[in-house]
Amino acid sequence: MNHYHERILVVEDDKQIQSFIGYSLETAGFPYDAVSTGENALQYLVSEPIDLMLLDLGLPDFDGMEVIKKIRKWSQMPIIVVSARDQDKEKVAALDLGADDYLTKPFSAAELLARIRVAIRHLYRQGNNNESAIRSVGELKMDFKKRIVYLEEKEIHVTPLEYSLLLLLFRNMGKVLTTQNILKEIYGLNYGNDTRALRALMAGLRRKIEKNPSKPRYIMTEIGVGYRLVDE
Ligand code: CA
Repeated sequence: MNHYHERILVVEDDKQIQSFIGYSLETAGFPYDAVSTGENALQYLVSEPIDLMLLDLGLPDFDGMEVIKKIRKWSQMPIIVVSARDQDKEKVAALDLGADDYLTKPFSAAELLARIRVAIRHLYRQGNNNESAIRSVGELKMDFKKRIVYLEEKEIHVTPLEYSLLLLLFRNMGKVLTTQNILKEIYGLNYGNDTRALRALMAGLRRKIEKNPSKPRYIMTEIGVGYRLVDE
């Protein structure tokens, strides 16, 4: 059995879900603590060394969104939001506020652990300033120093905007990025709300990197939320 040293705080008021998550974490070898309110979560964070948080958005005392806002004032710890299926809007708002990822109830232990592992990898990449110059997923490869994209070892031509989009996705490999987030990052301050432009840009990029753009292998669409580059 693996033993992780990253300590996880589970913030969930539904006792059944809390114990399901707890059991999954324990089985996988993660140390964790569980609380049921936003107030207790914040208290916990100031007194205990926590590396990652799983946060239910519908808490009895205050909104999970408030918890994210407060934490982001002083910490960049990974926050994975746990939400019900009818909370799509909240999910996107939570990501825009700085949550790292989300899980929609009901989810499997495998999904939960996959998301946690991605978040932990990011935690270490963040702290590592000498980012490796070459990153790849499947047959898709990016050389950040030379600003070249390869597919099956062949250089492919991408426009500067497509390059920026792909770079952003690679830097956040495995993580979901909201449409707003992507627009802001690649178009800058005057990004407005041109989701159509982003869809067109994405379609163009997919035609270049995906064998079957309607069944993408690399860049996944998260319906109603945004996009995610797979992390293999
Ligand atoms: Ca709840």
